[in-house]
Amino acid sequence: MKIASVRTHLLEHRLTTPFESASMRFDRRSHVLVEIECDDGTVGWDECLGPAGPNAAIVAAYTPWLIGKDPRETGKIWSILYNALRDQGQRGLTITALSGIDIALWDVKGKHYGEPVSVLLGGRWRESVVAYATGSFKRDGVDRVRDNAEEMAERRKQGFRACKIKIGFGMEEDLQVIAAVREAIGPEMRLMIDANHGYTISEAIRLGRRAADFDIDWFEEPVVPEQISAYRDVRAGQPIPVAGGETWHTRWGMWSALESGAVDILQPDLCGCGGFSEATKILDLATLKGTRIVPHVWGTGVQIAAALQFMAAMAPDPVRVNPVDPIMEFDRTENPFRQAVLTSAIEAVDGRVAIPDGPGLGIEIDRAALEEFRAKQ
Ligand SMILES: [Mg+2]
Repeated sequence: MKIASVRTHLLEHRLTTPFESASMRFDRRSHVLVEIECDDGTVGWDECLGPAGPNAAIVAAYTPWLIGKDPRETGKIWSILYNALRDQGQRGLTITALSGIDIALWDVKGKHYGEPVSVLLGGRWRESVVAYATGSFKRDGVDRVRDNAEEMAERRKQGFRACKIKIGFGMEEDLQVIAAVREAIGPEMRLMIDANHGYTISEAIRLGRRAADFDIDWFEEPVVPEQISAYRDVRAGQPIPVAGGETWHTRWGMWSALESGAVDILQPDLCGCGGFSEATKILDLATLKGTRIVPHVWGTGVQIAAALQFMAAMAPDPVRVNPVDPIMEFDRTENPFRQAVLTSAIEAVDGRVAIPDGPGLGIEIDRAALEEFRAKQ
């Protein structure tokens, strides 16, 4: 069995209402899928976290090292590709592109052996996971406090029992938003806050001390991700558990955060940290340090499927760092191709998401949707 071709599919949708986090403005949704076809006709899929065009360019750069390789040799191929761009590419787009390739190869491998990736990773501990709704970005032309509160009240009605809101736009308004959302969702629903590294250390500490009154499960990316020691300072200076990791890459990048005790919760993105091959190593490292793993998810149903396969195989570890029932990020912002790219959508029902049990990622791609949302060059 040999890899015959590697293709990328750039997808795009212009938002009806632009929105922003503390670090980024979105006027469109843009993602890239990776398709790997083998000489026996088996096809594997994944996507890369981050900017679609640059990721596609790096996937193309890796392609000469892929053609003719046995796709089942996922670990060997990971090392060959990593080494190919290693000297200038130990983090960032080289790793997000590598992640998309690695997961597509695992999809191929699962289809070849007729098993879900989760079985190949060691076994399925669960058939569904609790989902938390991610939303409450700052939207153009609306009152943020009321808009965020109404949105999360709606998520509660839809059955979600946990949600995450965006902060990092200024302490007083952020605290108003947090108070309004807590009021709107009631005392039982879990609530997390994500600053998308919009605060300084001292601001984050002051906000965390005041926000703790609203029963917050975690404070995500309080400060810039390059400053690992700043995470440790925020963790020590305020009472809310600190989360981070969606922009950190590979076992080496994650270990820098883990060994210094930077976070209570590590958030590797399957399509960004290095794929299944690397995420399993990161999970082991996190267990050694007693750090909980909650994967970051931001993309199409393909990325959701990858995260679900990984979470199915997350064992309740011997030291009980990770709870028996892990929690899955479920983006609720506008993205019409999120589920349209799948022939069978992966949706939350009563706040839980079923984990596909078909071969590979357990999904089929709707090629008509790829054409419908193909980015105009
Ligand atoms: Mg985040």
